[in-house]
Amino acid sequence: MFEVQQVRADFPILSQEVFGHPLVYLDNAATMQMPEPVLQTVVNHYHADNANVHRGIHALSERSTRALETARERVRAFVNAKSADEIVFTSGTTGSLNMLADMWFGSGCADGAVVTTMMEHHANFVPWQQACLKHGCDFLGAPLDEKGDLDMGELENLLSCHDVSLLAVTHVSNVLGTVNPIGEIVAMAHAHGVKVAVDAAQSIRHEVVDVQALDCDFLAFSGHKMGGPTGIGVLYGKMAELERLRPVRFGGEMVGDVRVAGTTFERAPLRFEAGTPNYIGAIGLAAAMDYLDNLDRAEVGKYEHELLAYAEERLAGIDGLSFLGNPEKRAGCLSFTVEGAHPFDVATLADKLGVALRSGNQCAQPLLYEAYDAHNITRLSPAFYNTYDEIDVAVNVLHRVIARIRSVS
Ligand code: PMP
Repeated sequence: MFEVQQVRADFPILSQEVFGHPLVYLDNAATMQMPEPVLQTVVNHYHADNANVHRGIHALSERSTRALETARERVRAFVNAKSADEIVFTSGTTGSLNMLADMWFGSGCADGAVVTTMMEHHANFVPWQQACLKHGCDFLGAPLDEKGDLDMGELENLLSCHDVSLLAVTHVSNVLGTVNPIGEIVAMAHAHGVKVAVDAAQSIRHEVVDVQALDCDFLAFSGHKMGGPTGIGVLYGKMAELERLRPVRFGGEMVGDVRVAGTTFERAPLRFEAGTPNYIGAIGLAAAMDYLDNLDRAEVGKYEHELLAYAEERLAGIDGLSFLGNPEKRAGCLSFTVEGAHPFDVATLADKLGVALRSGNQCAQPLLYEAYDAHNITRLSPAFYNTYDEIDVAVNVLHRVIARIRSVS
């Protein structure tokens, strides 16, 4: 049985008032809060072991280096990669995907188009679009069906009718909450000789992400979406793929021999980590993975799923509210529009009553502007530390603020 109150005790930030109201934090798809054990790990490292990694031979440097490499092994185990050498530390999902897009084209891997989908976050859309523009390759967006799920038939058409080198696809949509059938999509792409980069920013906390089971070629995610620190993320790549990639960021630690005549580079993953890596971030990320694994993830998943379903049911009772998408499987968030109430007004007034929601385009303009005609939406995204009572508070607050907005417009 999942004990939400016990878990909440690990997140003291939640026990505060905002504008005189108890905080109800429902913006977890943007950033999840860090539990105490993760904060303590970070503080302890600064207190006791802090020194630059890989460079020194003194005790603190060795401790820091060991902690970083232990963290790499921890990440390997979390996503079930074959080798810790397949784990590249980056600044986050955006950092991972930008670097990959640059490397993909800079390494002679790409001799064809890149396909992405209309439900991507800008982080898995714009880097590929810009790289395609620079290298004169086609850039294509797979459409959604009328329910808001990926149109698998159209996706297969794109993969088979064009000379495609890579598919960039999200595991879970940050707007619709749609959980895409990534294993099936990867198999389809591979059948057409297309490599696959998965944006796991939203799935990494909700789903058990097993890169070997998914068989994806690359996968990217961020620490701050799973209870880890901000400024740290991961680019996973199958070793055979990483070995083909030329680094695009240069500096200390990623090199072998450096001469005027030329430079040789380290093996993966170090050759992709120029400069001082965010080793404290990596150590905190590993602690967040320990924290999640110490909870029963199946129980947590079940609780989150039921909480989201409850929120959907309660929100559906609000007059004039419509959800975006009606996916077969949803995780993490609910996005909606409300007749006669602009999302900015809804989220601003809800905040004044203690409820943290997100409004705007959620960095998904292709989805909102082209697939839907909704330029802005409100998003509610619970985490496993939220309670049914908090959902009730949020729904009551929404009733109030929507009535107020309608009364003055
Ligand atoms: N992809 C998805 C699906 C996301 O939800 C986000 C964060 N909103 C990102 C990418 C970008 O993550 P970050 O800002 O941590 O780089």
